[in-house]
Amino acid sequence: MKILTINAGSSSIKYQLITMPDEKVLCNGLVERIGEAEGRIKHTVTGRETQIDGVPIADHKVGLSRVAALLMDGPDRVIDAPGEIAAVGHRVVHGGERFQQSTRITPAVKAAIRELSPFAPLHNPANLAGIEVAEEIFPQAEQVAAFDTAFHQTMPEYAFRYAVPTDLYTEHGVRVYGFHGTSHAYVAKAAAAWLGKAPEACNLITAHLGNGASITAIRNGRSVDTSMGFTPLDGLIMGTRCGTLDPALIFFLSERLDMPLDEIDSLLNKRSGLVGLCGDNDLRDIEARATAGDGAAELALTMYAYRIRKYIGAYAAALGRVDALVFTAGVGENSSEVRRRVCTDLGLLGISLDEVANEVMVRGQTGPIHAQESRVAVYVIGTNEELEIAQQTAAVVGECG
Ligand code: AMP
Repeated sequence: MKILTINAGSSSIKYQLITMPDEKVLCNGLVERIGEAEGRIKHTVTGRETQIDGVPIADHKVGLSRVAALLMDGPDRVIDAPGEIAAVGHRVVHGGERFQQSTRITPAVKAAIRELSPFAPLHNPANLAGIEVAEEIFPQAEQVAAFDTAFHQTMPEYAFRYAVPTDLYTEHGVRVYGFHGTSHAYVAKAAAAWLGKAPEACNLITAHLGNGASITAIRNGRSVDTSMGFTPLDGLIMGTRCGTLDPALIFFLSERLDMPLDEIDSLLNKRSGLVGLCGDNDLRDIEARATAGDGAAELALTMYAYRIRKYIGAYAAALGRVDALVFTAGVGENSSEVRRRVCTDLGLLGISLDEVANEVMVRGQTGPIHAQESRVAVYVIGTNEELEIAQQTAAVVGECG
């Protein structure tokens, strides 16, 4: 069965064509600058990348039509007709409380995704645009939505509620939703395989450290707490997002510094985090600066790791027993320095790194980095959200069929 995964952003479409159940990637690519005069498509088939520049891509429909043409035309074609694609799996950022797992897309599901747009105004409308054009271009295919929030719907109420008046939850949906669920779900299954246990038997702490970052406590295979909240702004220090802070800071910025709300929004989402602390948001540059003796970069790195350590301590307490700590995404998979800083002196929690194993582990590699005496396993696991979406899509199609 051939499954196309689609991650539609406001001006981009990321896609991958995967055969199931053998999980072979036939091709993948990215359509960028949708809506601009000069669009760009990067399309890769068996390691050979073609880049098409300067093509006008007016909207998502034009973008996906071009992808369909790339799939079907030329010497590198991977399908002969649109009907060969059995299902399209769409990444949808916000599924609210309504969606606890991936689901077949119906008119009611689309209406729900639209209704949830105020919770994810940059993402849900773009995800919906992707769904609607995929329905037109691949009419025979089942359309399935995989939600970033779904994996965290197992959180207990005491973990997902905020201590604000109850009607804000019951009337307006104010609660922790959590994000990156597809990634946390994927690496949790992979960690269980490394542990040689069923996912339902594993207690894990999974740290997705990319440009956005979140950390999740998993008990018996189910998310029981996570660091992102009502929005992806909360929790860890990120590339440009502040993570956790005292909400009273917003009153100060508004009342004392006379900052309009949209400016505060942009300050906390786009000019804070690592970039706010040291001017850079790429950990590679920050590490190089810190090594060269730059004080601001060193502080940013220290704060970044310290925030992660605090969450690991909190989640160890929440879980009671931790089988493994998992690092994933750009920083988690590549930065031995961040992993070392995070895990140093965590003997209290039974976490001890093998420094050599940690040093050699870079992107694309998966495996253990803990010392022999460590009570908690520590793994670096390459995340693969596309494959997770394809697996979930195949499962939904199987159920429907
Ligand atoms: P992601 O969002 O998962 O693609 O992660 C992107 C981030 O990973 C970048 O902004 C970098 O900060 C970080 N990153 C990528 N490669 C490295 C590396 N070799 N060392 C440290 N950080 C890295």
